Amino acid sequence: MHLSPLIRNALASNLAARVCVAGSSGIAGVRSLSAATAASPSSLCRSALLVRSYSCSTRSSICSASQSIAAAWFASSRAAAPVTQSRTFRSSGSSYFADTLQKLRSPSISLFGKSTGVPLLGLGHKISPQAAVLSPLARETSRKLSTMGIENPFENVLTTLPNPAGGSFGKYYSLPALNDPRIDKLPYSIKILLEAAIRNCDEFQVRKADVEKILDWENTAPQQVEIPFKPARVILQDFTGVPAIVDLAAMRDAIKRLGGDPKKINPLVPVDLVIDHSVQVDVARSPNALESNMQFEFDRNKERFAFLKWGATAFDNMLVVPPGSGIVHQVNLEYLARVVFNNNGILYPDSLVGTDSHTTMIDGLGVAGWGVGGIEAEAAMLGQPMSMVLPQVVGFELTGKLKTGVTATDLVLTVTQMLRKHGVVGKFVEFHGKGMQELSLADRATIANMSPEYGATMGFFPVDHVSLDYLRLTGRDEEKVKLVEAYLRANKLFIDYSEPQMEKVYSSFLHLDLDSVEPSVSGPKRPHDRVSIREMKDDWQSCLNNKVGFKGFGIPKEQQGAVAKFDFQGESAELRHGDVVIAAITSCTNTSNPNVMLGAGLVAKKATELGLKVKPWVKTSLAPGSGVVTKYLQKSGLAEFLDLQGFNLVGYGCTTCIGNSGELHESVGSAIADNDIVAAAVLSGNRNFEGRVHPLTRANYLASPPLVVAYAFAGTVNIDFEKEPIGISETGKEVFLRDIWPTSEEIASIVGSSVLPEMFRSTYEAITKGNKMWNELAAPTGALYAWDSTSTYVHEPPFFKTMSSKPPGVHSVKDAYVLLNFGDSITTDHISPAGNIHKDSPAAKYLAERGVGRRDFNSYGSRRGNDEIMARGTFANIRIVNKFLKGEVGPKTIHIPSGEKLYIFEAAKKYHDEGKDLVILAGAEYGSGSSRDWAAKGPYLQGVKAVIAKSFERIHRSNLVGMGIIPLCFKTGQDQDSLGLTGYEKLSIDLPSNIKEIKPGQDVTVTTDSGKQFPCTLRFDTQVEITYFEHGGILQYVLRQLLES
Ligand code: SF4
Repeated sequence: MHLSPLIRNALASNLAARVCVAGSSGIAGVRSLSAATAASPSSLCRSALLVRSYSCSTRSSICSASQSIAAAWFASSRAAAPVTQSRTFRSSGSSYFADTLQKLRSPSISLFGKSTGVPLLGLGHKISPQAAVLSPLARETSRKLSTMGIENPFENVLTTLPNPAGGSFGKYYSLPALNDPRIDKLPYSIKILLEAAIRNCDEFQVRKADVEKILDWENTAPQQVEIPFKPARVILQDFTGVPAIVDLAAMRDAIKRLGGDPKKINPLVPVDLVIDHSVQVDVARSPNALESNMQFEFDRNKERFAFLKWGATAFDNMLVVPPGSGIVHQVNLEYLARVVFNNNGILYPDSLVGTDSHTTMIDGLGVAGWGVGGIEAEAAMLGQPMSMVLPQVVGFELTGKLKTGVTATDLVLTVTQMLRKHGVVGKFVEFHGKGMQELSLADRATIANMSPEYGATMGFFPVDHVSLDYLRLTGRDEEKVKLVEAYLRANKLFIDYSEPQMEKVYSSFLHLDLDSVEPSVSGPKRPHDRVSIREMKDDWQSCLNNKVGFKGFGIPKEQQGAVAKFDFQGESAELRHGDVVIAAITSCTNTSNPNVMLGAGLVAKKATELGLKVKPWVKTSLAPGSGVVTKYLQKSGLAEFLDLQGFNLVGYGCTTCIGNSGELHESVGSAIADNDIVAAAVLSGNRNFEGRVHPLTRANYLASPPLVVAYAFAGTVNIDFEKEPIGISETGKEVFLRDIWPTSEEIASIVGSSVLPEMFRSTYEAITKGNKMWNELAAPTGALYAWDSTSTYVHEPPFFKTMSSKPPGVHSVKDAYVLLNFGDSITTDHISPAGNIHKDSPAAKYLAERGVGRRDFNSYGSRRGNDEIMARGTFANIRIVNKFLKGEVGPKTIHIPSGEKLYIFEAAKKYHDEGKDLVILAGAEYGSGSSRDWAAKGPYLQGVKAVIAKSFERIHRSNLVGMGIIPLCFKTGQDQDSLGLTGYEKLSIDLPSNIKEIKPGQDVTVTTDSGKQFPCTLRFDTQVEITYFEHGGILQYVLRQLLES
């Protein structure tokens, strides 16, 4: 019987992780998955515990649509003083959320072969089928949009799935019915892409040739071929969700202007938005912390929340989980995940994209999902395929069993280090092997969560018996579980380790013996810099000595013993290098795992009983990802001990994981700053880059929740837990970590008695009722959003304001000025920074003019719902390097006709007022870094019509196309310098005026005003992208389709 182990003796272990690597690149060979014994459902049940250039026609049609929109935008952005506008608000009743769910109900839709009333998620809520499947309107529309080509050529493999209890579960596109021997060797994750391609094949958006590419994955993946993928649903968090809903709201206005029905604008696939990123730890170590922090959160974010609340009631297929409910990925895992969809009788695997990089956590449950930028997410919402490179797959074999004292956090830090070393960027990682049975679902989710840290697109765990037991544990109906198993078995997507395993092909291989994992932390500045806690003291010492870098602080020897003495609320206090000032149990990465959460509680209990106390100046906090955690901590009796040591509940949200740590006490902050102390934070999060956790904690260590509590007691990371006591008991005895570390039996026992399916059911029933603050929040109602022109957070974007019902067609670019002349590696953060709004920037000026004080500027990230601020923030990165400035760094450029040096936004505005087109010249990897929709929307709003670069980051190129901006590549070996371009030339780009004559990847001639010509490659990569261009952007394309439907 497997129970996640967590015991003391392994602290003495010095076994290194054993790694077996084969074929580090390309399709290396074939590996047999050995047969294994079946997991014991009953035991696993206990252990499985614990988110547009709206261009124009030809130049002759003047002010092409894009110019008109830009004109409208520049005009609106010039509107000076705020105007008061009356608005109608409704203070909703006690259960807005229930209203939303009621709206989504449709008894006529059949699930599981029944005609009505089957709880969708098996949680007993009778949630509308449309929360999981498309509304009748959406289905109809989806069909309309997806059948622009021919009927699905794979209808012949549509097969009935019998229900052993009688009747059928529904129909499915059967992979075995394809009778293709290549399928059995495909990794499970690739089979999910294959099934989606077959089901969505219409010879327009998805073609038979795409299906063949996936079938032939072994040969095509090394060639980096692109395929379309249509995920089953989309998940959002509030930071990135606001601009997406703003676009949908603006589309509703547009369709009304064009004579259509605004209610046609709805997500075509289910969209779940969880408000979790805004809560901060303003108050900690107090019984009132939860309530106080929620109040601060609502006060700060009222406008954004009211807008999202409007969206929740205005759109079909959209569920908004109110603030204070949980963290997106934990809520997804425990509640939202369908695993298998039943869409009007058609069964298919759950899959999703999300606008948060840790969307990958759901891969632990066998649901394929990963993070994308806003434009891709919006496109996916509206039923459009995403273009992706068919990924290589790293097969990661797990054997053995975690030793006692070793947690899932230790394991994920080990896996992260291995995969970083192996190199998995852009690849899938698929876990398999006998060790899988030894990992609870929550352990798997922890590993899947940190995919961004190891660089993979996703770390995937195919569904097996452990996954099914987790569905039962979290309160899903048995009938739903039976459907999931029957469908996945029938379509060869289920792993049964009691059966002989088929040989799988992987691109490369890794192996880890779980026995070799030892307790670890990662830091002080990067998630993959793992340190065994046995070596922590030595590692810390070398970090102090090393010159400043990822593993160094460069503290001179004579200053390493510095002591900062200060007064903390009347008590004498001291801080040394390495002292802990933040200890946070945070992040969905860990708070979804009862083993480590209850392990943390047991450490607190044992230490308390021995008389240990956490020093009062350590900012301790507990921020779980769902109310279930509170319930099992309370039932176990351990919550009391966490409270006693200051780990009071501070909120249900991201908090310290996203850097919302709140302020340190003033005296602590001064002691650190005045004495240049390298203070430490210890958190159970997944990222620790300098500056992310708190500006005053230069050392940040990722650790399991029990270790977070242990380091809080120790008060320093400069400790050898083997040899040095963690504290002194009431009786004056030295207390070591091993004295307070729980055994695996203790943890297993308390998990078994404290974590119950009913807790999941009742928690998620409760969130459907909202909460007091949310329910009392006034929000507009109606199908159309009542834009408030005085709002500096939510503003109607101009993207659709001047669009017509007919596509504008091709627009050429004539005599365009170069707005910016870049070199290599311009990232999306250069293009659209997310951080602070600089006091001298155009965005700051805009806010000041509207009466916003400097303290309330907030960040660009929080103001993504306001296009006027985001346009001013485009290219506002203070470290941007533009060749025009001859070495000067900063967000300025030369307005060529006048020779003036201006902020980039101001130069763009001046060009616009003069009626000039703009282009950008760039080097290699333009748009690398995080996928960010505003990195395409912003340049569009500044009037950029084309970007000519040596190469583009893949997602950013597709975002440019989505905004109607033309991406062009210099020919191999050429760039601005080799062609003798100074950037001061005026450039004309000659595209065929007839859209039908434009071909993906064709050559296009660019001509300078002096007559020089050079060829470029047009980076519209597919026919679908050319269609988007014809329409002025992807959202305009979809809008027109809906208008016609
Ligand atoms: S807790 Fe951390 S990982 Fe999870 S959603 Fe929030 S910021 Fe992302």
